[in-house]
Amino acid sequence: MDSSFARRNRQRKGGAAPYILAGGAALLILVIVLAVALLASPLKLELTGGSEIDLEYGEAYAEPGVKANLLFFNVDVQSGGQVPGDQLGSYTVTYSASFLGKTATVERKVNVVDTTAPTITLMHKDNFFTLPGHEYQEEGFVAEDNHDGDITDRVQKMVSDGYVHYMVTDSSGNVAEVKREIVYNDITAPELTLLGNSTVYVTVGKDFVEPGYKAIDDAEGDISLKVQVTTDFNKNTPGTYTVTYKVADNYGNSTEVTRKIVVSNSQQQTSGGNPVGGVIYLTFDDGPSQHTERLLQVLEKYNAKATFFVVGDKALGYLDDIVAGGHAIAIHSDTHNYNQIYASEEAFFNDLYAIQNKIYDRTGVKTTLMRFPGGSSNMVSKFNPGIMTRLTKLVEEKGFTYFDWNVDSKDAGGAKTADEVYNNVINGCKSRTASVVLQHDIHGYSVDAVERIIQWGLANGYTFEALTPDSPTAHHPVNN
Ligand code: ZN
Repeated sequence: MDSSFARRNRQRKGGAAPYILAGGAALLILVIVLAVALLASPLKLELTGGSEIDLEYGEAYAEPGVKANLLFFNVDVQSGGQVPGDQLGSYTVTYSASFLGKTATVERKVNVVDTTAPTITLMHKDNFFTLPGHEYQEEGFVAEDNHDGDITDRVQKMVSDGYVHYMVTDSSGNVAEVKREIVYNDITAPELTLLGNSTVYVTVGKDFVEPGYKAIDDAEGDISLKVQVTTDFNKNTPGTYTVTYKVADNYGNSTEVTRKIVVSNSQQQTSGGNPVGGVIYLTFDDGPSQHTERLLQVLEKYNAKATFFVVGDKALGYLDDIVAGGHAIAIHSDTHNYNQIYASEEAFFNDLYAIQNKIYDRTGVKTTLMRFPGGSSNMVSKFNPGIMTRLTKLVEEKGFTYFDWNVDSKDAGGAKTADEVYNNVINGCKSRTASVVLQHDIHGYSVDAVERIIQWGLANGYTFEALTPDSPTAHHPVNN
């Protein structure tokens, strides 16, 4: 037997003691190995969530966490550094740990940033719209930002393709954009105005000459060219006809007005002496005077229009009131001195242009309407044979329209009271569809008759209009 065999045998048979010894040695080795490993290992600090993170402005900082270990031992970590959530900027959080004489430090950068775009809120007014061709009138808007607050005044606006575009940028460069569609509409009908009189008198067989019209739309402006004119006018048959003027804007708002055409024989008489209805042109010669103002008031009260054949040395201060009242202002004479004005053609026109210029200077109206002092049939010019024959031609050649009258109130002669004036006028008018009435507003009693004349006329189907170059001229036969 060799000894080594015997020793092995002893060991096998020897019980627990040798194993404990062996285990203790192993443990010791382990501890030594561990100690060496601990001494050789670094203290590790590991950030959860990265070394640089962004924190949205306004949110509270929540620590993502950190781990410290040395080998497999967890180590407590100390951290320091403030991250204010309500201030933009970069902040540093420092983490440190120490264990077994080892220390470690790590930093985390936290950027408090604003990535939230502002908001733009648009206001809307009820039933709001923009007239086509007109600029959009802002209904209102508000821009707010989570960091900058109210930034309404930084909003930039641009209009294109039927939209208003609103854009705003906050101090961090975040952009908000909204747009609003512009609602275009037009609910107002065009205004359609007739030039000339609302009733036109035409002698049988003569053409109706359109005096004109004007159509103005709030959105589209002058749309006179779109006016449709229709009429049942028949120049060969006496009667009353209607001219209808119709115009519509692009949104279908339409306006219609009518004008009457009365076709009559110039000698038309009434049957049984009843009023026939028609137009009465009240005309007043030789003024203005101190009675003109109340005459204008009466005319205005009934919306009646008249014509004033004025004289140069009279109360021309009333000329503006006459024009303002919508009446016709017309030439009578500067001097009304028969011997002077009918002495020669030159003298006549000197007088005529003098009063025409006075009227123009005061009112801006360059009138071509006139009436000869004494009328075209006067005999006071007999001292200059043929002067009226020449003048009646000349004034028309020079572009003037002269009027006489077919109803005489006789206030320059036989009539001395308002009653007489009234009776003369209505008796003259009631047999005519177009009356040119001669009165003088230098006579108070003649002016006094006007209100009753108008009341009678309106009650019997007459309108009171101002003379125009197209009105009946009521020419007299020329006697000289
Ligand atoms: Zn006169």
